[in-house]
Amino acid sequence: MITRSPAKVQTTGPLLASDAADKARWQRQLSQAIRSPEALCRRLELDPAWLPGAAQGHALFEVCVPEAYLSRIVPGAPQDPLLRQVLPLAAEGETPDGFVNDPLSEAAHTPRQGLIHKYAGRVLLIASPTCAINCRYCFRRHFPYDANAPSRAQWQQSLDYLRDDPSLHEAILSGGDPLAASDRQLAWLVGELEAIPHLKRLRIHTRLPVVIPERIDAALLDWLAASRLQKVVVLHINHANEIDDAVMAACARLKAAGVTLLNQSVLLRGVNDSVDDLAALSERLFEAGVLPYYLHVLDPVAGAAHFDVPDGEARALVAELRKSLPGFLMPRLVREVPGEASKTPL
Ligand SMILES: *Cc1c(COP(=O)(O)O)cnc(C)c1O
Ligand code: SF4
Repeated sequence: MITRSPAKVQTTGPLLASDAADKARWQRQLSQAIRSPEALCRRLELDPAWLPGAAQGHALFEVCVPEAYLSRIVPGAPQDPLLRQVLPLAAEGETPDGFVNDPLSEAAHTPRQGLIHKYAGRVLLIASPTCAINCRYCFRRHFPYDANAPSRAQWQQSLDYLRDDPSLHEAILSGGDPLAASDRQLAWLVGELEAIPHLKRLRIHTRLPVVIPERIDAALLDWLAASRLQKVVVLHINHANEIDDAVMAACARLKAAGVTLLNQSVLLRGVNDSVDDLAALSERLFEAGVLPYYLHVLDPVAGAAHFDVPDGEARALVAELRKSLPGFLMPRLVREVPGEASKTPL
């Protein structure tokens, strides 16, 4: 089984050579993230009985959790919905039929290195190969990131691809987590995108404002607020407990910079598979100024089968949820079907 490269601290980025000399506070937080099952179990006061399984899962996909996220987890509570997203388990070694390494067949839609073009009008750019956290259910846990972290020259090829196709109106920065790249790198990339006249929108899919809210700092807000492009940030939050005061404040800073805030979640067994959890998440998102966008059913990635919620149950949950929320707080339940022209509503 291929293992993704660990979410190591970025000393060299995908866009430019090293600019790590003056690290931002969020970068220092990231470099201090917990990266071993032993340290994770110790920090969260878990029974040592969890260790062997955690070590097995870690061997398949490395642990990475920064303190800002850990501080929202209740110590000694193995069923904590945030802990379940980051604690490796022996079950990750099980791969039932249908659970594969590249569930979305992205390899077939990569016309340039680090560029995925599946849907009309928009392309996805892998702006950083790494993340600030390793989520156990991640559909990119086997993604060959090393082969998808382009150099400056390779970026020019992706930018040419965008320039040459006037039907493209939106660039989506993804990863990994695009905000794991430095602001110098991102400001350069966004500057290049802005110069493409047919591009209207910049969309950023990120979990960093939730994992390390300090990531939304002055350096980031500078280039973001200055951009002529319409800006959308799609956060990735799965549970109301992930939204603490620091996350609320980070969302407020993004909104003040002119960003439209949306959220996508993944429906996960043992994390948010109840009407109460999903309703609380939508309510809390709106308090933070964020609208629910998608609720994804799990992509069948090898190692994540224990998070799966069957379609019938997912539909029933969402039908119940609709009875307790205003329409604008209802996420769309979708699945990504390889080969389809959009996400597929369930
Ligand atoms: C999900 C996805 C998008 C965005 O789809 P929307 O429905 O616009 O949110 C774009 N490109 C790729 C490759 C995707 O996987
Ligand atoms: S932040 Fe997103 S891309 Fe990174 S590990 Fe988590 S789910 Fe995967």
